[in-house]
Amino acid sequence: MTVLVFLDPAHENGRVADPAQPQLMATDLGATRGDGIFESMLAVDGVARKVGAHLDRLAKSARTMELDIPSADAWRRAIATALAEHPPAEEIVIKLLVTRGVEGADRPTAWVQADAAGPVGRKQRQEGVDILLLDRGYDSSLAERAPWLLLGAKTLSYAVNMTALRYARAHGADDVIFTSTDGLVLEGPTSTVLMATERDGVKTLVTPLLENGILPGTSQGALFKAAAAAGWQLGYGPLQPHHLLEADAVWLVSSIRLLAPVKSIDGTPIPVSAPMTDELMKLLAEGSQD
Ligand code: PLP
Repeated sequence: MTVLVFLDPAHENGRVADPAQPQLMATDLGATRGDGIFESMLAVDGVARKVGAHLDRLAKSARTMELDIPSADAWRRAIATALAEHPPAEEIVIKLLVTRGVEGADRPTAWVQADAAGPVGRKQRQEGVDILLLDRGYDSSLAERAPWLLLGAKTLSYAVNMTALRYARAHGADDVIFTSTDGLVLEGPTSTVLMATERDGVKTLVTPLLENGILPGTSQGALFKAAAAAGWQLGYGPLQPHHLLEADAVWLVSSIRLLAPVKSIDGTPIPVSAPMTDELMKLLAEGSQD
């Protein structure tokens, strides 16, 4: 069941709306130009995870595109309303969406959507993923040179990301890792890339450099914090595909799928570590409680 809660100054805790009825104006700039941003977070047993980190990233995306959005408190109240309206479920996906609003109105359209989590994230988590490396078509310094391209923001223009996933599935893979034209590992269409090595008893987690034009993952952030406290070494790229092939384990990480072990890259099998996956799943859950 889908629950919709619109952020509306006349309703302190948000206005619950009927998902079976039209709710957006056809002239909303989110629909006509994809001019908006979003967040996806997971609620486990009715408790939303990493709300602060998601709200911080939403605010950062908004600043990048000069979008005036509701306050963090208003979002928190609307999230609480959405969770209260949704029938109990082990995992609920909560999306925060905000567009530049109806043409000429000068007011954003903002809403929370809650749905029971679908099967894909859980399947990736349990069974792992076969990956295709796909060219993102830009070099790793573009984000810094051209901030108007919004490379580090979570915008509503996800058609390219979704098309890359369809391309992978049409070619026998489950998911994608994008690479830059100068040969660096970037991110998945809906995930952060993470690899681990274990040498002489020292375990190290590495993720690509954020400056390379990728979205800063809230899951990666939460996991790095918890892993550092548990004695892991941490590292940030630059990573090339051969680093992934030589790692002891590689994962796609995101709020909904959590950790999905990568089983192969472009058809080449790579090692999977069930003990490391179990340990990192616990650390991710620990780091995601606030
Ligand atoms: N990178 C991209 C492009 C994403 O869309 C996402 C999440 O959907 C992530 C990374 C992972 O972010 P998070 O861990 O905050 O879910």
